Amino acid sequence: MKCDKCGREAITYIRYSGAHLCPEHFTEFVERRVKKELRRQIDLKRTKKIAVAVSGGKDSMLSLYLLNRFFSGVRGLELEAITVDEGIADYRPATLKLVADYCEQLGIEHHIISFKEMLGFNLDDIVRKDDQITPCSYCGVFRRKAMNSVARDIGADVLATGLNLDDAAQSIIMNIARGDMERLARMGPHEHVQPGLVPRIQPLRLIPEKESYLYVMINNIPFSDKECPYRQKALRNTFRDIINRLEDETPGSRYSILKSYDEIKPLLVKKYPPVSLGRCRRCGEPANGELCMACRMQESLMTRID
Ligand code: SF4
Ligand code: ZN
Repeated sequence: MKCDKCGREAITYIRYSGAHLCPEHFTEFVERRVKKELRRQIDLKRTKKIAVAVSGGKDSMLSLYLLNRFFSGVRGLELEAITVDEGIADYRPATLKLVADYCEQLGIEHHIISFKEMLGFNLDDIVRKDDQITPCSYCGVFRRKAMNSVARDIGADVLATGLNLDDAAQSIIMNIARGDMERLARMGPHEHVQPGLVPRIQPLRLIPEKESYLYVMINNIPFSDKECPYRQKALRNTFRDIINRLEDETPGSRYSILKSYDEIKPLLVKKYPPVSLGRCRRCGEPANGELCMACRMQESLMTRID
């Protein structure tokens, strides 16, 4: 197979566009879409600091690499990385080191926040006490709180996540299947800025998971492919299978789902406008009600964990 652009040996065939691409043109193909999203999502005149959520997996490492590549020479714009240590013994310690080493190599400040210091217990403790729970439901809420509080404390204007096209399509379908229109309306990237909440941006939202993988391989970006041991329990897996089947049978489905969502989002936001948030009386983080969701979960868990 030859590259459609230059005639050199192709390394991939992009089914949804019918293109054969060599490493160089594949790299360009990915970067063009990331740049397009960044232009849409970030107002560079107002952005002084970007916090990047980095777990050590391929997507977050790619997001860090590309943001550094595009912005490291821009004066007055800083990049800092944040990793959450959930306290998952077989998984997190190795990735913490990987991210720390890569940040050092790139000259990017790296912050680590652990569930243990934030909550007094870690994710393994929660699961040890109750193996019937779905760890991701707790982990997701605690991670968001941890990320937001660090991003805000370091003065970041936006928080970049490693969400890719597959993740975005799964989340959209998941919220529709649950009938959770409010959550659907609140999905990032965020345009409305709420006091105390750092808006999330999603540089990779147009990049399919397989392309993210191929890009990091071609460009020698370090990443960990170790999976979180609790991932198998996630409800998201059902939606991952559905989206994969759909994409297999009808290439381009993921992108169509995202594009449709972008079209209807303004209507959703009009129907479900952002609520004005108060402060959690326990931790001071933004909250809809007396306590934020993380504190509500933390209180219910504390009665079960010594
Ligand atoms: Fe947390 Fe679930 Fe992700 Fe594991 S897979 S890090 S439990 S959200
Ligand atoms: Zn709280």
